[in-house]
Amino acid sequence: MNKGTFTGVGLGPGEPELITLKGFRALQAADIIFYPVSSLENGQHRSFSANILDGLEINKPCEPLLFPMKGKETQKFYNEAFLRIKDEYENGKNVVLVSEGDLFFYSTFGYVFKLAKEAKIPCRLIPGIPAFIAASALGEQPLVEKTTGLEVMAKPESFDAISEALKRQSTFVIMKMSVLDGWHSFLKNCGRSFLYAERVGTGNEFFTSNADELEFRRIPYFSLLIVYPENE
Ligand code: SAH
Repeated sequence: MNKGTFTGVGLGPGEPELITLKGFRALQAADIIFYPVSSLENGQHRSFSANILDGLEINKPCEPLLFPMKGKETQKFYNEAFLRIKDEYENGKNVVLVSEGDLFFYSTFGYVFKLAKEAKIPCRLIPGIPAFIAASALGEQPLVEKTTGLEVMAKPESFDAISEALKRQSTFVIMKMSVLDGWHSFLKNCGRSFLYAERVGTGNEFFTSNADELEFRRIPYFSLLIVYPENE
């Protein structure tokens, strides 16, 4: 039996139209599309990627793969997910695994990709627009210019660690910021301009450059921060 194909597609940050044309065509050519879910809630799969797929109106079989974000057994879930993909691939199917944003930017896709490589299954990779790039467009301010560097932090340890990093004259992107509490007072006092953006590209998008608007706001998982360098 002929083998199928395996393609990774970055879906972009949330707005269905922000997928690449190449990614969209790969979805249309798929026999089965797998998407990651992080948990099961009330028996329902919660998934950011599934919402994007719904918006694209791709009428293809879609199946969730469970990738819990925490816990000791994450590798077991990656292995199981990969076996499911491998099974379809070996049955001659065009298999797509999607990822929100880009495939290789803090994405679970990377773990599955590693397993595919070990199993010598070729994988076509179609990148996507990462959320911070989409957020930057909301800020109405260039992300980096001239000789300014760009630093990305994820799950920052503490506000002290961030203050220390901010001494460097770079633009900072902070991913997974919901691990810390107290952003309102930090941003009010850090003396830097910033953009806070949550659920970029979805119907529930919210963004602001005013710390006061964060005083009573619960920071969700799908939020990020861009801190701009001091004006020279
Ligand atoms: N692969 C994704 C990143 C996944 S890691 C990408 O390329 O962008 C998950 C983190 O990404 C979240 O904690 C949040 O910081 C950020 N993120 C992803 N999508 C987002 C969105 N639509 N709006 C705001 N932040 C988002």
